[in-house]
Amino acid sequence: MSPENGESLCPVCGFDLGYQAWEGAEASLEICPSCGIQFGYDEAAGGDPARRVAAHRAWRERWLSAGCPWTSKGKPPPAGWNGREQVERSSPHRQG
Ligand SMILES: [Zn+2]
Repeated sequence: MSPENGESLCPVCGFDLGYQAWEGAEASLEICPSCGIQFGYDEAAGGDPARRVAAHRAWRERWLSAGCPWTSKGKPPPAGWNGREQVERSSPHRQG
């Protein structure tokens, strides 16, 4: 029921962060270089996990409608990076 547990994928865009965005109620305070969300700031949602999930979804929809851009200015995207494929791969609603 909690696919993000123990994983290092961004809960918004599916980028492999290499760390957990959230460990329980503890935010990493890092910024995802892919979608630009900062864990613990942009979606703190008053510490409410359900609202945090909704905030992640809202951020993802905004990022998708912006065309899945790479947002980090200091860090280049991995070779062959494709934001839309990345988020579709990681989506819990994927088919099959
Ligand atoms: Zn992200």
